[in-house]
Amino acid sequence: MSRILIIEDEESIADLERDYLEVAGFEVEIAYHGRLGLEKALTEEYDLIILDVMLPGIDGFDICRQVRREKNTPIIMVSAKKDDIDKIRGLGLGADDYMTKPFSPSELVARVKAHMERYNRLVGVGIPKNEVIEIRGIKIDKTARRVWVNGEERPFTTKEYDLLTFLAENPNRVFTKEELFREIWDMESVGDIATVTVHIKKIREKVEFNSAKPQYIETIWGVGYRFKM
Ligand code: CA
Repeated sequence: MSRILIIEDEESIADLERDYLEVAGFEVEIAYHGRLGLEKALTEEYDLIILDVMLPGIDGFDICRQVRREKNTPIIMVSAKKDDIDKIRGLGLGADDYMTKPFSPSELVARVKAHMERYNRLVGVGIPKNEVIEIRGIKIDKTARRVWVNGEERPFTTKEYDLLTFLAENPNRVFTKEELFREIWDMESVGDIATVTVHIKKIREKVEFNSAKPQYIETIWGVGYRFKM
């Protein structure tokens, strides 16, 4: 669940914001004092901070500045004064958004959601990153299990793909056919080390310019194979 910190000294406003955000499925904490808010923002992990500008003691500008020095947490600043908005913009505090009071709580919820989605996209939370191996002309996308050779996608069977990926992940290491068979085929598999030879041949046909003179998967005579980096 996403956690939100509200730093706001007007309790009725803070509580209203919290109620709406909780209904929308967020976990919310409130700091009614600026110093406490700053401390929480710096020491705990939040997915977003709603920060009031006018606070006793330390104001929202200072808090924003100090948080930004250490964290990228999205910050929505709120103020009752229109002038503050210009200040937020002008000072380059690093706030992600700003709203003028009074605003409707549902608008706040909508903004929070939009920022959260944007932030999650940027940092890749919840979206597995494509793990890509690139060695010279070969590109392997491990998330999609797809392979490109010099920019052109080539179809690979499951085992061909597994074998190629395993070798490419361990470049310059020599593996015996037995090791490769154990690694790629499970114990119950029908087959023997000749299966490895057959698969290497098929992979070469797909990735090598000239299978007779392989540039990627080399045969180490009497030992096995290695992927040349
Ligand atoms: Ca205030």
